[in-house]
Amino acid sequence: MRYAILADIHSNLEAFQAVLAHLAVQGGADQLWCLGDIVGYGPDPAACIELLQQQPHISIAGNHDWAAIGKVPLAQFNPDAAAACRWTALQLETRHVRYLESLPLHAEAEGFTLVHGSPREPTWEYLLTLDAIEANLGHQTTPHCLVGHSHVPFVAACSTQGIAQGLPTISHCEELEFDLGEPIVLNDQRFVINPGAVGQPRDGDPKASYAVYDATNGAITFFRTSYDIEAVQRKMRAAGLPSRLSQRLSYGL
Ligand code: ZN
Repeated sequence: MRYAILADIHSNLEAFQAVLAHLAVQGGADQLWCLGDIVGYGPDPAACIELLQQQPHISIAGNHDWAAIGKVPLAQFNPDAAAACRWTALQLETRHVRYLESLPLHAEAEGFTLVHGSPREPTWEYLLTLDAIEANLGHQTTPHCLVGHSHVPFVAACSTQGIAQGLPTISHCEELEFDLGEPIVLNDQRFVINPGAVGQPRDGDPKASYAVYDATNGAITFFRTSYDIEAVQRKMRAAGLPSRLSQRLSYGL
């Protein structure tokens, strides 16, 4: 079985479609794992929800998904994100709201924990440092963990040392360098992986980011694909969404 791992689609239909087309060329996937923030920031929230629903998939909720349906206060967002969130809420019909309401904050599949932010704080915590990754390992009951939220792709490998209360105690984690298109075999270490963002990358590369996990050889592979950024920016301008949110797509920041 092959699983496509997508995070932070953020209402960017062109990026989502480009990822699905790119994925098909790589051999496709049996199921899509979505790590939350389907909506927010971008101009096509309803269409992105509907395209996701057409795929065999598991999805969890991100902070923007919850904000769009009033489950977290907008005071926790910066002014641009809050403005986009208010706009997003107006675009959603009852069926879209029901779908977002149905999403859990946590899922498990094939030995992976799926969360948006982190295992101990799925909605808000950013896993950006090795210290934060190590601190979270005791909060997952699967060998590996998949996160989104930071919009920055990474792979951390954590070696274990002994067992305490049924879970391995961690000696230390290190970030692994990787090349696009090159499989990373998940060995007996514990891996924490962020596939990067589909709809609003923030690592300096504007291309949409995603990963594929192949359970037959236990390997994960990262991919990037270009998409029509200007088409998305035109839609965002027409919708009156904050200009900073559309400009940042050009730079991947
Ligand atoms: Zn996000």
